[in-house]
Amino acid sequence: SLRNAIPTDKIRYDEKGLVPAIVQDYLDGTVLMMAWMNSESLQKTLETGETWFWSRSRQEFWHKGATSGHTQKIKSIRYDCDSDAILVSVEQIGDIACHTGERSCFHQVDGNIIPPPADTLSQVFQVICDRRDNPNESSYTCKLFAGGDNKILKKIGEEGAEVVMAFKDDNAEEIAGEVADLFYHTMVALAHHKVDIKDVYRKLQERRR
Ligand code: AMP
Ligand code: ZN
Ligand code: ZN
Ligand code: ZN
Repeated sequence: SLRNAIPTDKIRYDEKGLVPAIVQDYLDGTVLMMAWMNSESLQKTLETGETWFWSRSRQEFWHKGATSGHTQKIKSIRYDCDSDAILVSVEQIGDIACHTGERSCFHQVDGNIIPPPADTLSQVFQVICDRRDNPNESSYTCKLFAGGDNKILKKIGEEGAEVVMAFKDDNAEEIAGEVADLFYHTMVALAHHKVDIKDVYRKLQERRR
């Protein structure tokens, strides 16, 4: 139970009784949205295991996803050093947190819609998928896709052997480089087979228990 995950009476609410809550995807760390909680919505959040906010414009409780279906299941919840901000790590149902239909509210850069930063593997995977969907002549990634499983899986085998050699050499620089190569080529195979990197992350999280 989340009931005691946060001491609701220790949170320092502002003069309106509100505290900002930042919501983050538990798999790739993407910052999904920011909204306000009061002590009662925080209590509801802890009791139900889903996010509840306080809507300042409507002056009412707001169960995220109540109309859209895009609820947020709490994975972990914490507060900051001086107890005036909350960070909620969630499983985002539908993978959409923003009412615009974008995954994250933080998708705006200079008036353009740009996906928000995630962890490094996810960022590289996003570029790989973009190469797959928008091929160009000069890209090594596109050449791999053009070669299909024959080329991609052979590379995974080679890089796997290079990783083993690097560990045998016990050379930190070489190990990092070869593991990076193996990760990259494995992600190309994932993209080629239309398996999302987040499905891999989900397996890793499931196996943590
Ligand atoms: P939902 O909670 O997803 O069912 O959406 C209900 C309403 O809450 C929407 O029509 C918006 O007014 C508002 N809303 C939903 N998601 C967000 C968000 N990420 N940021 C701000 N407002 C939102
Ligand atoms: Zn603070
Ligand atoms: Zn939004
Ligand atoms: Zn290599």
